[in-house]
Amino acid sequence: MSAKQYINRVLQIVEEKHADKPEFIQAVNEFFPSLEPYLTEHPEIEGHNILELIVEPERIIQFRIPWEDDAGQWQVNLGWRVQYNSALGPYKGGIRFDPSVNESILRFLGFEQIFKNALTSLPLGGGKGGSDFDPHGKSQREIMRFTQSFMSELQKHIGPDIDVPAGDIGVGHREIGYMYGQYKRLNQPEPGVLTGKPTNQWGSFGRTEATGYGLIYFAENALWDSDERLSEKNVVVSGTGNVSTYTVEKATQLGAKVIAVSDSQGYVVDENGVDAEILKKLSARGSGALKYYSEYQPDSTYYEDVSVWSAQLEYDVAFPCATQNEIDQDAAENLVKNCGVQAVFEGANMPSTDAAIKVYKEHDILYGLGKAANAGGVAVSALEMAQNAQKEQWSIETVDERLQSIMSEIYELVSTTAEKYVGNKNDLQAGANIASFAKLAEVMINQGLV
Ligand code: NDP
Repeated sequence: MSAKQYINRVLQIVEEKHADKPEFIQAVNEFFPSLEPYLTEHPEIEGHNILELIVEPERIIQFRIPWEDDAGQWQVNLGWRVQYNSALGPYKGGIRFDPSVNESILRFLGFEQIFKNALTSLPLGGGKGGSDFDPHGKSQREIMRFTQSFMSELQKHIGPDIDVPAGDIGVGHREIGYMYGQYKRLNQPEPGVLTGKPTNQWGSFGRTEATGYGLIYFAENALWDSDERLSEKNVVVSGTGNVSTYTVEKATQLGAKVIAVSDSQGYVVDENGVDAEILKKLSARGSGALKYYSEYQPDSTYYEDVSVWSAQLEYDVAFPCATQNEIDQDAAENLVKNCGVQAVFEGANMPSTDAAIKVYKEHDILYGLGKAANAGGVAVSALEMAQNAQKEQWSIETVDERLQSIMSEIYELVSTTAEKYVGNKNDLQAGANIASFAKLAEVMINQGLV
């Protein structure tokens, strides 16, 4: 059977078995076809049925989360931890609190995570977790009670050498702080059980900034390699959350101009360059707070109920940093035909649909997929684990230096793998997928059928 036939056969099995999980199927469909040149050279992958094995999580834990709201009503939400693959190390990946969370979303995120973590070359397996709890509009006490209840169940399944969760959408320092408090109450002080902790609770300096900063370091490496300079670019960033804010901050520090940002309810154009400090202030005002940006910057313009990716703006680089599938085919066509975009680097996980990626390829857009471009967050999480194990706290300068070299090594690995297998160093999608798969598959074969 040819590599292509093998891939198609496994894709068909996945589609039949998981027909009710569209995001998961999308992530697998994005990944497997790009492995064809590698599988052609490595028949042992089919010989060991590695595609069939790698696509299924080692374990999915599902539980209910009972909690009491401020009115004294009993509430219940669903919680999950998907422990996807531990071949390279303890399961590692964030926790998401959002009403859209379900098994399909967490399988897609976990599947992406195992390969992202492999690209860092650090000893990390992959996992993901979360709940369909909606934090919007909840009081601080409700968030605390919910988060404690979530951890009361999750703590049975995690540990510094077993599974080390972190934050994601809806889970920041505050929630991680509550989770750690509850874990400590039910077990013993063990800071290495979670990453993304506040720095006064053994968190790493630079973890908050890491995904956004790392994204910009990755983009800088890729642009340099194509004789382009980020400092000469106008850029647009979607989202105003953790990843977006620090993407805006680092892009600006390195001389790029961020002309627009968005949130779930609209977008802002600021021709003077979006100010990350304003975004930090707005974050305290909750979801949809971008509409207040003009209170700080009267020259800016706010557009309500419309995606920034359908706006007709002129710029060079797009950084989708909000959520999955935010750029569809129409939006991608708008980017390349009307906006003049030359490169897309993904801070979010799977923000581009398959059809959007096709548009990038047809128009020779330099495309840095999330698996590689947003790996800075998990890389610094691994540095946090190392600091916790050594009972040390490194300076922000030390962490940032490590982050810069990790992102540069990831770019190097991805582009040389792309050159080797598809003859095009700019095919970062093929490079990232093949390089990460190769690392993981080799170790899985070495560890035997487990
Ligand atoms: P946050 O919750 O901090 O921020 C999410 C942002 O996206 C908010 O500004 C939200 O708007 C906005 N948003 C949500 N839906 C939409 C939409 N449909 N259109 C436009 N904006 C939208 O999350 P993070 O920054 O942590 O995560 C963002 C993405 O990055 C996710 O895909 C996550 O998986 C990925 N990621 C995160 C990492 C991390 O370290 N945090 C690491 C690697 C990847 P509003 O404020 O109005 O709600």
